Amino acid sequence: MSVELQKRPESKAETEEQLTDGFHLLIDALKLNGLNTIYGVPGIPITDFGRLAQASGMRVLSFRHEQHAGNAAAIAGYLTKKPGLCLTVSAPGFLNGLTALANATTNCFPMILLSGSSEREIVDLQQGDYEEMDQLAIAKPLCKAAFRVLHAEDIGIAVARAIRAAVSGRPGGVYLDLPAKLFGQVMNATAGAESLVKVIDPAPEQLPSQASVKRALDVIKSAKKPLIILGKGAAYAQADDVVKSFVEKSGIPFLPMSMAKGLLPDMHPQNAGAARSLVLKESDVVIMVGARLNWLLSHGKGKSWGEPGSKKFVQIDIEPREMDSNVEIAAPLVGDIGSCLSELLAGMGDQFPAAPDGWKSAITTKRDANTAKMNQRLGSDTTPMDFHTALGALREIMQQRPDAMLVNEGANTLDFARSIINMSKPRKRLDVGTWGIMGIGMGAAVAAAVETGHPVLAVEGDSAFGFSGMEVETICRYNLPVCIVVFNNNGIYRGTDENENGDGDVAPTVFVKNSRYDKMMEAFGGVGVYATNRDELTQAVNEAMDSGKPTLINAVIDENAGTESGRIGNLNPQSVVKK
Ligand code: ADP
Ligand code: MG
Repeated sequence: MSVELQKRPESKAETEEQLTDGFHLLIDALKLNGLNTIYGVPGIPITDFGRLAQASGMRVLSFRHEQHAGNAAAIAGYLTKKPGLCLTVSAPGFLNGLTALANATTNCFPMILLSGSSEREIVDLQQGDYEEMDQLAIAKPLCKAAFRVLHAEDIGIAVARAIRAAVSGRPGGVYLDLPAKLFGQVMNATAGAESLVKVIDPAPEQLPSQASVKRALDVIKSAKKPLIILGKGAAYAQADDVVKSFVEKSGIPFLPMSMAKGLLPDMHPQNAGAARSLVLKESDVVIMVGARLNWLLSHGKGKSWGEPGSKKFVQIDIEPREMDSNVEIAAPLVGDIGSCLSELLAGMGDQFPAAPDGWKSAITTKRDANTAKMNQRLGSDTTPMDFHTALGALREIMQQRPDAMLVNEGANTLDFARSIINMSKPRKRLDVGTWGIMGIGMGAAVAAAVETGHPVLAVEGDSAFGFSGMEVETICRYNLPVCIVVFNNNGIYRGTDENENGDGDVAPTVFVKNSRYDKMMEAFGGVGVYATNRDELTQAVNEAMDSGKPTLINAVIDENAGTESGRIGNLNPQSVVKK
């Protein structure tokens, strides 16, 4: 009898089928592909998924709003070349995350938005389910690819397709629709394990054709005033050594786009950033490396680009359709940055045309004059601080801390910081990107800290900070080494606008005067500092960067400082009709 009793559980285990379910298959599929961090907001129907993912050893970071979780996932994708994961609930949560997914796609950052959704049968008959929405249809036009998974046995393939779509070719955002019922679907564990796919070589090298390399070499060799423009695609590619060799061996001056700053150090002798107007206007051959001729470069034409027809463009991009998007590209090189530049280097041998000394010295002269002018302004020590006083302090700090990550958004705070704060290492600067949007700040800061482990300095306009400000709680909750400096000038652009109708409301661009953003951080146990001058700001930032404690410094900025829309005021129509 007792022998039989002892034997029974064993024999039961032998016959009982081992099962898995949608929850576990999704977790296993992600982990199998090295995706171990999820940024999201829990809720129906993905709450238990988050719990189980965490229990399985994944890092699950919960935010206060999906858009910021999505922005974090996008930045994680940019920094790691693996799709960042964002997890949202259905309908409203999905829509909040969708903004970040669209932004990631626009910026060519790989990310996957995993969203729970309502039951297909009810959604398709529009019978009014909880948070009913045809999410797949809505996501499709806003991202690179969108898939829905209905059966647990398809989860492995779906994750594989999502990863490939996100990182191969031009990277972008992918939507994965996960109806609530999928998670609970049960299947045989062995069959489940066999259904998973480990994606081999998710972003294969893409070699340019030999003919296109020869064509590019011919154009480059003909140059008298060549210029290289480095974009964030080049930073993303992580081909840092090849980029450096190409620039240094060629001796060609380079201009970094904002997130490509630091790919080569900003202090590099060939950096023409401080002579930007001159090089755009006067160059005769422009080599675009992972940068687009969009609004950020005046579409490659118009006054800032000098005489029409005075330039030839060589463009290196992984996306063939980028060529001729705005102007004729004389030599398109379609392929990944590393492969294309390696081919050019090999083809050039030692035959790079020495960019004429006159061209180089004209740039150096202009650059040095502009830099000297700027340095003079940066030494200023006004109270209240203006942008130059505050940013002069932050520039020194960043120079001493080359590994620190910089997040930057705002209008004037963005424009001034971009040109004032030098970067000395690749992929350290995260900002508003291709759309120039506000609200990326705290999502980017969280991802920067989580993915790199380095301290993060977030330089934020007071308006820009407001979009994601509640995430200071997230930063405190995970005790992340993030130091936020809010440039508080009492409003959008400036704090001095007046309401002309006298109804007692303030002007649409004005906030509560003398707000204490530092108290927000204190509310969650972080360090809050109220800084009114350069010394206080310097000391507080250094302390935060040393301690790694979540810190928010309210930097009081003269409310008269700042111009309408910063440097892109030309894009903001102004009425000339007086009524
Ligand atoms: P920026 O704003 O810095 O000018 P963009 O985002 O406009 O940069 O341009 C980045 C470009 O880089 C995009 O056209 C994208 O297709 C391209 N790109 C992204 N990754 C790679 C890569 N690995 N190799 C080549 N091109 C890439
Ligand atoms: Mg402001």
